[in-house]
Amino acid sequence: MVPGDSAGPGPAIAVRGLRKSYDGRTDAVAGIDLEVPRGEVFALLGPNGAGKTTTVEILEGFRKRTAGEVSVLGIDLAHGGRRLRERIGIVLQECGIDPYLTVIEAVRMHALRYPTSRPADELVELVGLADQRRQRVKTLSGGQQRRLDLALGLVGDPELLFLDEPTTGFDPSARRASWEVVRNLCSLGKTVLLTTHYMDEAQAIASHVAVMALGRIVAQGPPDTLAGRDHLATAIRCPLPAGVLPDGGGLPGLDLPVTVEAGTVTVEVPEGEDVARALHRLTGWAVDGGHDLAGLTVSRPTLEDVYLRLTGTVPELTPGETAEGDRP
Ligand code: ADP
Repeated sequence: MVPGDSAGPGPAIAVRGLRKSYDGRTDAVAGIDLEVPRGEVFALLGPNGAGKTTTVEILEGFRKRTAGEVSVLGIDLAHGGRRLRERIGIVLQECGIDPYLTVIEAVRMHALRYPTSRPADELVELVGLADQRRQRVKTLSGGQQRRLDLALGLVGDPELLFLDEPTTGFDPSARRASWEVVRNLCSLGKTVLLTTHYMDEAQAIASHVAVMALGRIVAQGPPDTLAGRDHLATAIRCPLPAGVLPDGGGLPGLDLPVTVEAGTVTVEVPEGEDVARALHRLTGWAVDGGHDLAGLTVSRPTLEDVYLRLTGTVPELTPGETAEGDRP
């Protein structure tokens, strides 16, 4: 048995050795382990074809696994997903809502499917559609429709919410508003399993992420420390100053790796080296030479940098090799 009893404090999702083969020969999901604590936003990341949808559909109780143990809200899915349906919410990319209903009518109609539901007014407020409550669904903007989808996913007051690419097609302010809604859900004790292609989204709202590629999990952990991100080199970047050559010739001696690409100089300061010292030399050189270095930045690798490294290395994995052994 995987941990977590139905009512108790165990993880919202516990998966061990999950495997799914559609054709009996290749594995779409090739033996993954996952644990999603209750009350957290967990993001499942990975390129197309990585196995995210297959995994999520198994967790939702819509698809049968080939092998492995799966427990969702303490329910072992081998014994049927019906009991689970009432306790989870699912927000897909496209929900078929009658476009002639008003927002509040759509939420009330949807509530009829559940034995208990949250008040429609409260939900509309929660997703930021209070001003549109009497507006017909067909007149909502794309971002507003997705927020209505979210309200519908929450109607049955689920303990666990599955969100599929929740902000695809949103404008920047609508994205931020939706992130706030998802964060609020966690403060209400809900668990959210999110799939997204946006690394800034995962960074902004997920407390844990798992990166999948070719049916495996290649890294798992908090976004800030994923795959040793917090120990990777710090990058000092600035526009190419006049007189600096593509090999960095002309810059002061920094004893650090320097690259010039697309008009930008990047100096990599590995962990253990002194960022302040490198900056001091560079800026001292710039002051002496009259270079203003406008646009200079100092940054750690982003989640996207780490993600690209992880997913870029995966084709070199061979069957039986552990993903951990292949981490950078
Ligand atoms: P993702 O969601 O990460 O894009 P999927 O779970 O959709 O990945 O797909 C993983 C692999 O399983 C892919 O190679 C895909 O072609 C295959 N696959 C997905 N669904 C089916 C299906 N219904 N029948 C056969 N193969 C499938």
